[in-house]
Amino acid sequence: MVTNKTFTMLKPDSVENGNIGAILEKITTSGFRIDAMKLTQLTTADAKAFYVVHKDRPFFDDLVEYMTRGPIVAAILEKENAVQDFRTLIGATNPSEAAEGTIRNMFAESISQNAVHGSDSDNNAAVESAFHFSEREMF
Ligand code: UDP
Ligand code: MG
Repeated sequence: MVTNKTFTMLKPDSVENGNIGAILEKITTSGFRIDAMKLTQLTTADAKAFYVVHKDRPFFDDLVEYMTRGPIVAAILEKENAVQDFRTLIGATNPSEAAEGTIRNMFAESISQNAVHGSDSDNNAAVESAFHFSEREMF
């Protein structure tokens, strides 16, 4: 089922580098509506649970360390074809492979510290949104 919603996090490097405003500007001018948003910080348990699919990967411990080191901005975004269009807007996981003008091309430092998260399916968008937001925080 296509829900027209996706979930994003502006990761700790984006917050540290003062890029919240610039990234949100890029997201909203690209046609995404913000349905929910908060500044929050993941605990170690939160990050391990959120990224459980990667638990056996060699980068898992570094990923948990990175994602918990400071605040993030979590948001639910709405647009026709949201999941796919947002993945296009953020670009490849590795910013050196991310297309010109994509968020990771513009704001990411490395394949590990890559500025933003974007859900990879409608189902994961729903699961990840519910991980961060209660019903009354979603609009
Ligand atoms: N990651 C990493 N090294 C890698 C691949 C991924 O540190 O070789 C980190 C990176 O922060 C990435 C996250 O793990 O965004 C999740 O990886 P995934 O393959 O799901 O990439 P994404 O969906 O974020 O593009
Ligand atoms: Mg992913």
